[in-house]
Amino acid sequence: MPKIEEIINENKVWQILEETKNPSPNQIRKILKKALRKRGLNLKEVGFLLNTKEPSLIKEMFSVSAKIKKEIYGERLVFFAPLYISNFCVNDCEYCGFHVRNLAPRKKLTMEEIKQQVEILINMGHKRILLECGEDPKENPIEYVLEAIKTIYATKSAKGEIRRVNVNIAATTIENYRKLKSVGIGTYQLFQETYHQATYEKLHHGPKADYERQLFAHDRAIKAGIDDVGLGVLFGLFDHRFDTLALVSHAQYLEKKYGIGPHTISVPRLQPAPTVDLSPYSSYLINEKDLLKIISILRMAVPYTGMIVSTRERPEIRKKAFEIGISQTSAGSRTNPGGYGKKETLAQFSLQDHRSLDEVVESVLRQKLLPSFCTACYRSGRTGKKIMRLLKPGKIQYLCRPNAILTFKEYLEDYATSKVKKLGLKIINRYLKQISDDNIRMETENRLKRIENGERDLYF
Ligand code: SAM
Ligand code: SF4
Repeated sequence: MPKIEEIINENKVWQILEETKNPSPNQIRKILKKALRKRGLNLKEVGFLLNTKEPSLIKEMFSVSAKIKKEIYGERLVFFAPLYISNFCVNDCEYCGFHVRNLAPRKKLTMEEIKQQVEILINMGHKRILLECGEDPKENPIEYVLEAIKTIYATKSAKGEIRRVNVNIAATTIENYRKLKSVGIGTYQLFQETYHQATYEKLHHGPKADYERQLFAHDRAIKAGIDDVGLGVLFGLFDHRFDTLALVSHAQYLEKKYGIGPHTISVPRLQPAPTVDLSPYSSYLINEKDLLKIISILRMAVPYTGMIVSTRERPEIRKKAFEIGISQTSAGSRTNPGGYGKKETLAQFSLQDHRSLDEVVESVLRQKLLPSFCTACYRSGRTGKKIMRLLKPGKIQYLCRPNAILTFKEYLEDYATSKVKKLGLKIINRYLKQISDDNIRMETENRLKRIENGERDLYF
Protein backbone atom coordinates (compact mmCIF):
# COMPACT_ATOMS: atom_id res chain seq x y z
CA MET A 1 0.00 0.00 0.00
CA PRO A 2 1.17 3.57 -0.59
CA LYS A 3 2.32 6.03 2.04
CA ILE A 4 -0.13 8.73 3.09
CA GLU A 5 2.26 11.40 1.78
CA GLU A 6 2.10 9.97 -1.73
CA ILE A 7 -1.60 10.88 -1.82
CA ILE A 8 -1.67 13.90 0.44
CA ASN A 9 1.20 15.73 2.07
CA GLU A 10 -0.46 18.01 4.62
CA ASN A 11 2.56 20.26 5.12
CA LYS A 12 2.85 20.75 1.39
CA VAL A 13 -0.86 21.59 1.09
CA TRP A 14 -0.62 24.22 3.84
CA GLN A 15 2.55 25.60 2.31
CA ILE A 16 0.90 25.93 -1.10
CA LEU A 17 -2.13 27.66 0.43
CA GLU A 18 0.20 30.10 2.17
CA GLU A 19 2.36 30.76 -0.90
CA THR A 20 -0.64 31.37 -3.14
CA LYS A 21 -2.37 33.93 -0.92
CA ASN A 22 -3.49 37.19 -2.59
CA PRO A 23 -3.00 36.25 -6.23
CA SER A 24 -2.89 39.08 -8.74
CA PRO A 25 -5.48 39.27 -11.55
CA ASN A 26 -2.65 38.62 -14.03
CA GLN A 27 -1.63 35.43 -12.28
CA ILE A 28 -5.23 34.21 -12.30
CA ARG A 29 -5.75 35.04 -15.97
CA LYS A 30 -2.56 33.17 -16.88
CA ILE A 31 -3.88 30.10 -15.06
CA LEU A 32 -7.27 30.40 -16.75
CA LYS A 33 -5.53 30.52 -20.12
CA LYS A 34 -3.66 27.35 -19.25
CA ALA A 35 -6.87 25.69 -18.04
CA LEU A 36 -8.40 26.23 -21.48
CA ARG A 37 -5.80 23.82 -22.89
CA LYS A 38 -7.66 21.09 -20.94
CA ARG A 39 -4.51 19.44 -19.58
CA GLY A 40 -5.38 20.15 -15.96
CA LEU A 41 -3.63 22.35 -13.40
CA ASN A 42 -0.88 21.78 -10.88
CA LEU A 43 -1.50 22.12 -7.14
CA LYS A 44 0.00 25.59 -6.93
CA GLU A 45 -2.28 26.85 -9.69
CA VAL A 46 -5.26 25.32 -7.88
CA GLY A 47 -4.05 27.11 -4.72
CA PHE A 48 -4.06 30.49 -6.52
CA LEU A 49 -7.60 29.89 -7.76
CA LEU A 50 -8.81 28.80 -4.32
CA ASN A 51 -7.37 31.95 -2.80
CA THR A 52 -9.18 34.23 -5.26
CA LYS A 53 -11.87 36.36 -3.67
CA GLU A 54 -12.43 39.03 -6.30
CA PRO A 55 -15.98 38.49 -7.70
CA SER A 56 -15.10 39.59 -11.23
CA LEU A 57 -12.25 37.04 -11.39
CA ILE A 58 -14.53 34.32 -10.04
CA LYS A 59 -16.94 35.17 -12.83
CA GLU A 60 -14.12 34.70 -15.33
CA MET A 61 -13.35 31.31 -13.73
CA PHE A 62 -16.97 30.27 -14.21
CA SER A 63 -16.94 31.17 -17.88
CA VAL A 64 -13.68 29.24 -18.45
CA SER A 65 -14.90 26.12 -16.64
CA ALA A 66 -18.23 26.32 -18.49
CA LYS A 67 -16.33 26.39 -21.77
CA ILE A 68 -14.25 23.36 -20.72
CA LYS A 69 -17.35 21.50 -19.63
CA LYS A 70 -19.00 22.18 -22.96
CA GLU A 71 -15.96 21.12 -24.98
CA ILE A 72 -15.51 17.84 -23.13
CA TYR A 73 -19.03 16.82 -22.15
CA GLY A 74 -21.04 18.80 -24.66
CA GLU A 75 -24.62 19.47 -23.63
CA ARG A 76 -25.16 16.18 -21.82
CA LEU A 77 -26.17 15.71 -18.20
CA VAL A 78 -26.34 12.14 -16.89
CA PHE A 79 -29.03 11.20 -14.35
CA PHE A 80 -29.03 8.63 -11.55
CA ALA A 81 -30.86 7.93 -8.29
CA PRO A 82 -29.45 6.79 -4.95
CA LEU A 83 -30.92 3.63 -3.44
CA TYR A 84 -30.45 3.23 0.31
CA ILE A 85 -30.76 -0.45 1.18
CA SER A 86 -29.95 -0.33 4.91
CA ASN A 87 -29.45 2.34 7.56
CA PHE A 88 -27.82 -0.01 10.05
CA CYS A 89 -24.38 1.33 10.89
CA VAL A 90 -21.78 0.58 13.56
CA ASN A 91 -19.86 3.81 13.02
CA ASP A 92 -20.31 7.05 14.86
CA CYS A 93 -19.50 9.64 12.22
CA GLU A 94 -20.33 12.94 13.93
CA TYR A 95 -22.13 14.42 10.93
CA CYS A 96 -24.34 11.53 9.80
CA GLY A 97 -27.94 10.73 10.73
CA PHE A 98 -27.18 6.99 10.56
CA HIS A 99 -24.50 7.20 13.27
CA VAL A 100 -24.77 4.54 15.92
CA ARG A 101 -25.67 7.02 18.66
CA ASN A 102 -28.96 7.75 16.90
CA LEU A 103 -31.30 5.36 18.69
CA ALA A 104 -34.08 5.58 16.09
CA PRO A 105 -35.23 2.18 14.77
CA ARG A 106 -33.21 0.86 11.84
CA LYS A 107 -34.37 -0.66 8.60
CA LYS A 108 -32.73 -3.07 6.23
CA LEU A 109 -34.61 -3.80 3.02
CA THR A 110 -35.43 -7.40 2.11
CA MET A 111 -34.76 -8.50 -1.46
CA GLU A 112 -38.49 -8.20 -2.15
CA GLU A 113 -38.47 -4.61 -0.85
CA ILE A 114 -35.38 -3.82 -2.95
CA LYS A 115 -37.21 -5.14 -6.00
CA GLN A 116 -40.19 -2.89 -5.20
CA GLN A 117 -37.95 0.17 -4.77
CA VAL A 118 -36.20 -0.59 -8.04
CA GLU A 119 -39.52 -0.94 -9.86
CA ILE A 120 -40.51 2.51 -8.62
CA LEU A 121 -37.19 3.97 -9.82
CA ILE A 122 -37.49 2.27 -13.20
CA ASN A 123 -41.02 3.63 -13.58
CA MET A 124 -39.73 7.14 -12.91
CA GLY A 125 -37.37 6.64 -15.87
CA HIS A 126 -34.08 5.92 -14.10
CA LYS A 127 -31.50 3.57 -15.62
CA ARG A 128 -28.64 4.11 -13.12
CA ILE A 129 -28.65 3.50 -9.40
CA LEU A 130 -26.14 4.46 -6.75
CA LEU A 131 -26.43 1.83 -4.03
CA GLU A 132 -25.76 3.11 -0.51
CA CYS A 133 -25.80 1.68 3.01
CA GLY A 134 -24.23 2.07 6.42
CA GLU A 135 -21.35 -0.11 7.59
CA ASP A 136 -22.46 -3.08 9.67
CA PRO A 137 -20.69 -6.42 9.19
CA LYS A 138 -23.57 -8.31 10.84
CA GLU A 139 -26.56 -6.57 9.25
CA ASN A 140 -25.06 -5.51 5.92
CA PRO A 141 -22.29 -8.03 5.16
CA ILE A 142 -20.84 -8.04 1.66
CA GLU A 143 -23.06 -11.04 0.77
CA TYR A 144 -26.14 -8.90 1.46
CA VAL A 145 -24.80 -6.11 -0.76
CA LEU A 146 -23.96 -8.58 -3.54
CA GLU A 147 -27.41 -10.12 -3.39
CA ALA A 148 -28.94 -6.64 -3.49
CA ILE A 149 -26.95 -5.78 -6.63
CA LYS A 150 -28.01 -9.02 -8.32
CA THR A 151 -31.63 -8.28 -7.36
CA ILE A 152 -31.41 -4.78 -8.85
CA TYR A 153 -30.03 -6.06 -12.16
CA ALA A 154 -32.62 -8.86 -12.27
CA THR A 155 -35.60 -6.55 -11.68
CA LYS A 156 -37.52 -5.79 -14.86
CA SER A 157 -40.46 -3.48 -15.07
CA ALA A 158 -42.95 -2.98 -17.90
CA LYS A 159 -40.67 -0.81 -20.01
CA GLY A 160 -37.25 -0.87 -18.52
CA GLU A 161 -34.55 -2.00 -16.20
CA ILE A 162 -31.56 -0.65 -14.29
CA ARG A 163 -28.50 -0.90 -16.50
CA ARG A 164 -25.74 0.34 -14.20
CA VAL A 165 -25.37 -0.02 -10.44
CA ASN A 166 -22.73 2.23 -8.91
CA VAL A 167 -21.83 1.55 -5.31
CA ASN A 168 -21.07 3.80 -2.34
CA ILE A 169 -20.38 1.51 0.61
CA ALA A 170 -17.78 1.58 3.37
CA ALA A 171 -14.12 0.97 2.59
CA THR A 172 -13.44 -2.75 2.46
CA THR A 173 -10.90 -5.44 1.53
CA ILE A 174 -9.46 -6.39 -1.86
CA GLU A 175 -11.39 -9.68 -1.68
CA ASN A 176 -14.65 -7.85 -1.18
CA TYR A 177 -13.87 -5.43 -4.00
CA ARG A 178 -13.25 -8.47 -6.22
CA LYS A 179 -16.70 -9.75 -5.26
CA LEU A 180 -18.25 -6.38 -6.12
CA LYS A 181 -16.46 -6.46 -9.46
CA SER A 182 -17.76 -9.99 -10.10
CA VAL A 183 -21.41 -8.88 -9.87
CA GLY A 184 -20.82 -6.10 -12.40
CA ILE A 185 -20.78 -2.84 -10.50
CA GLY A 186 -20.15 0.40 -12.39
CA THR A 187 -18.23 2.95 -10.33
CA TYR A 188 -17.10 2.34 -6.76
CA GLN A 189 -17.44 5.66 -4.95
CA LEU A 190 -15.97 6.48 -1.56
CA PHE A 191 -15.56 9.91 -0.03
CA GLN A 192 -12.62 10.79 2.18
CA GLU A 193 -14.99 13.22 3.99
CA THR A 194 -11.95 15.29 5.03
CA TYR A 195 -8.33 14.71 4.08
CA HIS A 196 -7.15 16.46 7.24
CA GLN A 197 -6.07 13.48 9.32
CA ALA A 198 -6.48 14.96 12.82
CA THR A 199 -9.97 16.23 11.97
CA TYR A 200 -10.87 12.94 10.30
CA GLU A 201 -9.83 11.01 13.40
CA LYS A 202 -11.74 13.39 15.65
CA LEU A 203 -14.98 13.12 13.68
CA HIS A 204 -15.06 9.34 13.24
CA HIS A 205 -15.45 6.52 15.74
CA GLY A 206 -15.65 2.85 14.84
CA PRO A 207 -13.97 1.05 11.93
CA LYS A 208 -14.30 4.09 9.68
CA ALA A 209 -12.04 6.06 12.05
CA ASP A 210 -9.06 4.36 10.39
CA TYR A 211 -7.83 7.17 8.12
CA GLU A 212 -5.57 4.89 6.07
CA ARG A 213 -8.32 2.33 5.49
CA GLN A 214 -10.40 5.10 3.90
CA LEU A 215 -7.55 6.78 2.04
CA PHE A 216 -6.18 3.62 0.39
CA ALA A 217 -9.59 2.11 -0.41
CA HIS A 218 -9.47 3.23 -4.04
CA ASP A 219 -6.05 1.62 -4.47
CA ARG A 220 -7.50 -1.65 -3.20
CA ALA A 221 -10.55 -1.36 -5.45
CA ILE A 222 -8.34 -0.72 -8.49
CA LYS A 223 -6.12 -3.67 -7.56
CA ALA A 224 -9.26 -5.80 -7.40
CA GLY A 225 -9.99 -4.84 -11.00
CA ILE A 226 -12.54 -2.06 -10.48
CA ASP A 227 -11.54 0.42 -13.19
CA ASP A 228 -13.90 3.24 -12.31
CA VAL A 229 -13.51 4.74 -8.84
CA GLY A 230 -15.04 7.93 -7.45
CA LEU A 231 -13.59 10.41 -4.95
CA GLY A 232 -15.27 13.05 -2.82
CA VAL A 233 -15.05 15.38 0.15
CA LEU A 234 -17.88 16.24 2.52
CA PHE A 235 -17.56 20.01 2.38
CA GLY A 236 -18.20 21.70 5.70
CA LEU A 237 -16.11 19.43 7.92
CA PHE A 238 -12.83 21.27 7.44
CA ASP A 239 -11.19 24.17 5.54
CA HIS A 240 -12.57 23.75 2.01
CA ARG A 241 -9.39 25.10 0.42
CA PHE A 242 -7.33 22.39 2.15
CA ASP A 243 -9.78 19.65 1.19
CA THR A 244 -10.12 20.77 -2.43
CA LEU A 245 -6.36 20.86 -2.87
CA ALA A 246 -6.04 17.44 -1.22
CA LEU A 247 -8.77 16.05 -3.46
CA VAL A 248 -6.91 17.22 -6.56
CA SER A 249 -3.72 15.74 -5.11
CA HIS A 250 -5.51 12.38 -4.65
CA ALA A 251 -6.84 12.51 -8.23
CA GLN A 252 -3.35 13.27 -9.58
CA TYR A 253 -1.89 10.43 -7.52
CA LEU A 254 -4.34 7.91 -9.06
CA GLU A 255 -3.65 9.21 -12.53
CA LYS A 256 0.11 8.95 -12.05
CA LYS A 257 0.10 5.57 -10.39
CA TYR A 258 -2.51 3.72 -12.44
CA GLY A 259 -2.66 5.78 -15.62
CA ILE A 260 -6.33 6.59 -14.88
CA GLY A 261 -7.65 9.38 -12.74
CA PRO A 262 -10.87 9.00 -10.77
CA HIS A 263 -13.94 8.36 -12.89
CA THR A 264 -15.95 10.84 -10.82
CA ILE A 265 -15.57 13.44 -8.11
CA SER A 266 -18.53 14.24 -5.84
CA VAL A 267 -18.94 17.51 -4.00
CA PRO A 268 -21.46 16.83 -1.19
CA ARG A 269 -22.03 19.67 1.26
CA LEU A 270 -22.91 19.03 4.89
CA GLN A 271 -26.70 19.13 5.45
CA PRO A 272 -28.86 19.00 8.57
CA ALA A 273 -29.37 15.42 9.74
CA PRO A 274 -31.30 13.79 12.58
CA THR A 275 -29.38 13.91 15.92
CA VAL A 276 -26.55 15.84 14.28
CA ASP A 277 -25.46 19.14 15.83
CA LEU A 278 -24.07 21.34 13.05
CA SER A 279 -22.87 24.12 15.38
CA PRO A 280 -19.28 22.76 15.78
CA TYR A 281 -18.85 23.12 12.00
CA SER A 282 -19.96 26.75 11.77
CA SER A 283 -16.50 28.02 10.84
CA TYR A 284 -16.10 25.45 8.05
CA LEU A 285 -19.59 25.35 6.54
CA ILE A 286 -19.34 26.68 3.02
CA ASN A 287 -21.87 28.87 1.26
CA GLU A 288 -23.32 28.22 -2.18
CA LYS A 289 -20.92 30.66 -3.85
CA ASP A 290 -17.96 28.74 -2.43
CA LEU A 291 -19.44 25.46 -3.62
CA LEU A 292 -19.77 26.81 -7.15
CA LYS A 293 -16.23 28.13 -7.03
CA ILE A 294 -14.98 24.68 -5.96
CA ILE A 295 -16.89 23.02 -8.82
CA SER A 296 -15.43 25.48 -11.30
CA ILE A 297 -11.87 24.95 -10.00
CA LEU A 298 -12.20 21.15 -10.04
CA ARG A 299 -13.46 21.24 -13.63
CA MET A 300 -10.33 23.16 -14.63
CA ALA A 301 -7.94 21.08 -12.48
CA VAL A 302 -9.17 17.61 -13.57
CA PRO A 303 -11.04 18.33 -16.80
CA TYR A 304 -11.70 14.72 -17.80
CA THR A 305 -13.19 13.57 -14.52
CA GLY A 306 -16.98 13.31 -14.26
CA MET A 307 -18.37 15.54 -11.54
CA ILE A 308 -21.48 14.87 -9.48
CA VAL A 309 -23.82 17.18 -7.62
CA SER A 310 -26.73 15.68 -5.68
CA THR A 311 -30.15 16.79 -4.49
CA ARG A 312 -28.46 18.09 -1.34
CA GLU A 313 -28.38 21.40 -3.23
CA ARG A 314 -31.17 23.83 -4.14
CA PRO A 315 -32.50 23.81 -7.73
CA GLU A 316 -31.06 27.28 -8.45
CA ILE A 317 -27.56 26.26 -7.43
CA ARG A 318 -27.77 22.95 -9.27
CA LYS A 319 -28.68 24.83 -12.43
CA LYS A 320 -25.56 26.97 -12.23
CA ALA A 321 -23.46 23.93 -11.27
CA PHE A 322 -24.61 22.06 -14.42
CA GLU A 323 -23.46 25.02 -16.48
CA ILE A 324 -19.99 25.44 -14.98
CA GLY A 325 -18.79 21.88 -14.51
CA ILE A 326 -21.17 19.18 -13.31
CA SER A 327 -21.69 16.21 -15.66
CA GLN A 328 -23.85 13.86 -13.53
CA THR A 329 -26.68 14.43 -11.09
CA SER A 330 -29.33 12.69 -9.04
CA ALA A 331 -33.03 13.54 -9.17
CA GLY A 332 -36.16 12.51 -7.29
CA SER A 333 -33.95 11.14 -4.49
CA ARG A 334 -34.70 9.72 -1.03
CA THR A 335 -32.03 9.04 1.60
CA ASN A 336 -33.97 6.51 3.68
CA PRO A 337 -34.28 2.78 2.99
CA GLY A 338 -37.70 2.20 1.44
CA GLY A 339 -38.08 5.94 0.83
CA TYR A 340 -39.38 5.59 -2.73
CA GLY A 341 -43.08 5.10 -2.20
CA LYS A 342 -43.01 7.04 1.06
CA LYS A 343 -42.01 4.54 3.69
CA GLU A 344 -41.11 6.44 6.87
CA THR A 345 -37.69 5.21 7.98
CA LEU A 346 -34.62 7.01 9.30
CA ALA A 347 -33.10 9.28 6.62
CA GLN A 348 -29.38 10.01 6.44
CA PHE A 349 -29.70 13.77 5.93
CA SER A 350 -32.18 16.26 4.49
CA LEU A 351 -32.36 17.36 0.89
CA GLN A 352 -32.92 20.74 -0.73
CA ASP A 353 -34.27 19.62 -4.09
CA HIS A 354 -37.60 17.83 -3.75
CA ARG A 355 -38.64 17.92 -7.39
CA SER A 356 -39.53 14.77 -9.29
CA LEU A 357 -37.21 13.43 -12.00
CA ASP A 358 -39.59 14.78 -14.64
CA GLU A 359 -39.53 18.25 -13.09
CA VAL A 360 -35.74 18.27 -12.99
CA VAL A 361 -35.63 17.04 -16.59
CA GLU A 362 -37.93 19.90 -17.59
CA SER A 363 -35.72 22.53 -16.01
CA VAL A 364 -32.61 20.99 -17.56
CA LEU A 365 -34.29 21.15 -20.97
CA ARG A 366 -35.13 24.81 -20.45
CA GLN A 367 -31.40 25.26 -19.86
CA LYS A 368 -30.87 23.72 -23.34
CA LEU A 369 -29.07 20.73 -21.86
CA LEU A 370 -29.66 17.16 -23.00
CA PRO A 371 -30.62 14.69 -20.24
CA SER A 372 -28.84 11.35 -20.67
CA PHE A 373 -29.62 7.95 -19.21
CA CYS A 374 -26.74 6.35 -21.04
CA THR A 375 -24.88 3.35 -19.64
CA ALA A 376 -23.22 2.28 -22.89
CA CYS A 377 -19.54 2.73 -22.06
CA TYR A 378 -19.45 0.47 -19.08
CA ARG A 379 -21.55 -2.17 -20.82
CA SER A 380 -19.28 -2.08 -23.87
CA GLY A 381 -16.17 -2.43 -21.72
CA ARG A 382 -15.18 1.22 -22.20
CA THR A 383 -13.95 1.84 -18.66
CA GLY A 384 -10.75 3.05 -17.00
CA LYS A 385 -7.89 3.65 -19.45
CA LYS A 386 -10.01 2.75 -22.45
CA ILE A 387 -12.47 5.53 -21.78
CA MET A 388 -9.68 8.04 -21.13
CA ARG A 389 -8.14 7.18 -24.50
CA LEU A 390 -11.45 8.19 -26.10
CA LEU A 391 -12.18 11.12 -23.82
CA LYS A 392 -8.92 13.00 -24.20
CA PRO A 393 -8.90 13.46 -27.96
CA GLY A 394 -12.63 14.26 -27.80
CA LYS A 395 -13.59 11.05 -29.66
CA ILE A 396 -16.18 10.19 -27.04
CA GLN A 397 -18.38 12.98 -28.42
CA TYR A 398 -19.17 10.73 -31.38
CA LEU A 399 -20.60 8.14 -29.04
CA CYS A 400 -22.02 10.19 -26.20
CA ARG A 401 -24.24 12.59 -28.07
CA PRO A 402 -26.03 9.84 -30.06
CA ASN A 403 -26.29 7.64 -26.95
CA ALA A 404 -27.68 10.49 -24.88
CA ILE A 405 -30.22 11.22 -27.63
CA LEU A 406 -31.29 7.56 -27.83
CA THR A 407 -31.65 7.03 -24.07
CA PHE A 408 -33.45 10.35 -23.66
CA LYS A 409 -35.82 9.37 -26.46
CA GLU A 410 -36.65 6.20 -24.47
CA TYR A 411 -37.37 8.41 -21.46
CA LEU A 412 -39.67 10.64 -23.53
CA GLU A 413 -41.54 7.68 -25.00
CA ASP A 414 -41.97 5.79 -21.75
CA TYR A 415 -42.04 8.14 -18.77
CA ALA A 416 -42.26 11.85 -19.63
CA THR A 417 -45.34 14.02 -19.20
CA SER A 418 -46.67 15.43 -22.48
CA LYS A 419 -45.25 18.87 -21.67
CA VAL A 420 -41.75 17.47 -21.15
CA LYS A 421 -42.07 15.24 -24.21
CA LYS A 422 -42.79 18.24 -26.41
CA LEU A 423 -39.86 20.20 -25.03
CA GLY A 424 -37.60 17.14 -25.13
CA LEU A 425 -38.23 16.36 -28.79
CA LYS A 426 -37.15 19.90 -29.66
CA ILE A 427 -33.91 19.42 -27.75
CA ILE A 428 -33.31 16.06 -29.46
CA ASN A 429 -33.73 17.71 -32.87
CA ARG A 430 -31.41 20.52 -31.91
CA TYR A 431 -28.57 18.16 -30.98
CA LEU A 432 -29.27 15.55 -33.62
CA LYS A 433 -28.42 18.22 -36.20
CA GLN A 434 -25.12 18.78 -34.44
CA ILE A 435 -23.86 15.20 -34.94
CA SER A 436 -21.17 16.04 -37.47
CA ASP A 437 -20.55 12.54 -38.83
CA ASP A 438 -23.18 11.91 -41.52
CA ASN A 439 -23.22 8.12 -41.05
CA ILE A 440 -23.64 8.33 -37.27
CA ARG A 441 -26.35 10.97 -37.61
CA MET A 442 -28.30 8.89 -40.11
CA GLU A 443 -27.93 5.78 -37.98
CA THR A 444 -29.13 7.74 -34.91
CA GLU A 445 -32.18 8.91 -36.86
CA ASN A 446 -32.83 5.34 -37.89
CA ARG A 447 -32.58 4.14 -34.28
CA LEU A 448 -34.87 6.93 -33.07
CA LYS A 449 -37.52 5.51 -35.38
CA ARG A 450 -36.85 2.01 -34.06
CA ILE A 451 -37.40 3.31 -30.53
CA GLU A 452 -40.69 4.88 -31.62
CA ASN A 453 -41.62 1.44 -32.93
CA GLY A 454 -41.01 -0.13 -29.54
CA GLU A 455 -37.37 -1.26 -29.61
CA ARG A 456 -35.27 -0.39 -26.52
CA ASP A 457 -31.68 -0.31 -25.36
CA LEU A 458 -30.07 0.68 -28.66
CA TYR A 459 -26.62 2.13 -28.18
CA PHE A 460 -23.32 2.78 -29.91
N1 SAM B 1 -21.55 4.46 4.89
C1 SAM B 1 -20.62 4.54 3.82
C2 SAM B 1 -19.57 5.56 4.09
O1 SAM B 1 -19.71 6.28 5.05
O2 SAM B 1 -18.58 5.60 3.36
C3 SAM B 1 -21.34 4.78 2.54
C4 SAM B 1 -21.73 6.13 2.13
S1 SAM B 1 -22.80 7.15 3.11
C5 SAM B 1 -24.32 6.31 3.00
C6 SAM B 1 -22.85 8.44 1.92
C7 SAM B 1 -22.14 9.72 2.20
O3 SAM B 1 -23.09 10.60 2.79
C8 SAM B 1 -21.00 9.78 3.17
O4 SAM B 1 -19.81 9.37 2.58
C9 SAM B 1 -20.99 11.25 3.58
O5 SAM B 1 -20.08 12.00 2.84
C10 SAM B 1 -22.39 11.71 3.24
N2 SAM B 1 -23.06 12.31 4.42
C11 SAM B 1 -23.14 11.80 5.66
N3 SAM B 1 -23.78 12.66 6.47
C12 SAM B 1 -24.13 13.74 5.73
C13 SAM B 1 -24.79 14.97 6.01
N4 SAM B 1 -25.22 15.28 7.22
N5 SAM B 1 -24.96 15.85 4.99
C14 SAM B 1 -24.52 15.57 3.76
N6 SAM B 1 -23.90 14.42 3.43
C15 SAM B 1 -23.68 13.51 4.41
FE1 SF4 C 1 -22.33 5.09 8.85
FE2 SF4 C 1 -21.49 6.09 6.48
FE3 SF4 C 1 -23.10 7.49 8.11
FE4 SF4 C 1 -20.62 7.10 8.83
S1 SF4 C 1 -21.31 8.25 7.00
S2 SF4 C 1 -22.40 6.86 10.17
S3 SF4 C 1 -20.25 5.07 8.02
S4 SF4 C 1 -23.59 5.60 7.06
